[in-house]
Amino acid sequence: MEHIYDVIIIGGGPAGYSAALYATRAGLDTIVLERLSAGGQMALTLDIDNYPGFDEGIDGFTLGQKMQQGAERFGSKSAMADVYSAQLSGEIKVLETSEGTFKGKSVIIATGAETRKLGIGREDELTGRGIHYCATCDGMGYRGKTVAVIGGGNTAVEDALILARLSEKVILVHRRDSLRADKVYHDQLMKTENIEIRWNSVISELVAEEKFQGIKVKDVNSSEESFIPCDGVFVSIGRVPETKKFADEIKLDSQGYIVADETTRTNIPGVFAAGDVRTKALRQVITAAADGAVAAYFADEYLGGL
Ligand code: NAP
Repeated sequence: MEHIYDVIIIGGGPAGYSAALYATRAGLDTIVLERLSAGGQMALTLDIDNYPGFDEGIDGFTLGQKMQQGAERFGSKSAMADVYSAQLSGEIKVLETSEGTFKGKSVIIATGAETRKLGIGREDELTGRGIHYCATCDGMGYRGKTVAVIGGGNTAVEDALILARLSEKVILVHRRDSLRADKVYHDQLMKTENIEIRWNSVISELVAEEKFQGIKVKDVNSSEESFIPCDGVFVSIGRVPETKKFADEIKLDSQGYIVADETTRTNIPGVFAAGDVRTKALRQVITAAADGAVAAYFADEYLGGL
C-alpha cells in the first residue's frame, strides 16, 4: 500500500529540521527530503557564532547533523531525494523526486535561497578560503584585515558596514555609479572612514596562490583593469530562492520568494513555507529554525481540521 505521510518537508536546513523536530514531537508521521546533506546553506558556513547555545560557536556542517539527529530522535525520517516537480493543490500532495513518488497530506517548503554567485573562474575553489557570501557569518575571520565587498544593494552596504567595524579597510566594489541600497544607508556609508568605494567596476579575476591575494577589477567605462590587494571578498549581489519548481501553484513575490506571513501559510491550504524561502526581513539560522517550529504548528492545526 502506498505510504501517505502527514508532513513532507522539502529541504533539510535549519527550517526543515526544526519543522521535523516539532512535527514528530507532535506525533505526526514526517519525512524530510534533502538533496545533499543536512544543514543546507548553513552547512557551508565555517563558524556560526550567532546561534544561541554554543558558547564557542559551531561549524554549520556539525550543527546541521545535530539538527537532523535531534529530529530523528523523535522518529523523523530523512531521504536523499531531489524534488523534480510537485502537485500541491489537491488534498494529497504529490512530489516526484529522484527517489520516486512521495505523497503527503501537508508539505512544508524549506528549500532556502542560494546566494547569487559571481560566475567567474576559481569562485567555487576559493569559497570559504577568501570568497564568502555572508558577512554576519564569516566576517570575524577578517578582524584587522582588508576586505572587498561586491554589490550595491542593501545587503552589500550592510555587509560593508558590519565589516568596517571589524576590518582595517573595506573596499565596496559596485558595477554602477549609484547605489541600489536605500537612502538611509548612503550617509552611514559615506561617513565611515575605512570604507572606500570603487564605482563602475566589475570583478574580472580572483587572485590567489597559497593564500588569497586580491581581485582584479575592470572599469566598465574605460575597460581599464586594476588590482586590489585584499585578504578576502564578500559577494553580496543578491540571492536566488529555490522556488522555480513550485511557481505554477504557489504565489511568489517579485524576487521569487514564497509569499507567506508569520504563520508560514502559503496560498495553498496544507502547504507552508519556512526559512529563507519565505518573504521575511531577516534571513538567519535562528529565524529559519523559528519558522520551522511555526510551520509544524500550523501543519498540525491544518491536519487536525481535515
Ligand atoms: P539586491 O537588492 O538585488 O541588490 C543586488 C546588488 O548586487 C545590486 O546592487 C546589483 O547591481 C548587484 N549585482 C547583481 N548581480 C551582480 C553581478 N553579477 N555582478 C555585480 N553586481 C551584481 O540584493 P540584496 O542587497 O541582497 O537585497 C535583497 C532584498 O533584500 C532587497 O529587496 C533588499 O531591499 C532586501 N534587504 C533589506 C534590508 C533592510 O531593509 N535592512 C537588508 C538587506 C536586504 P545593480 O544595482 O546594478 O543592479
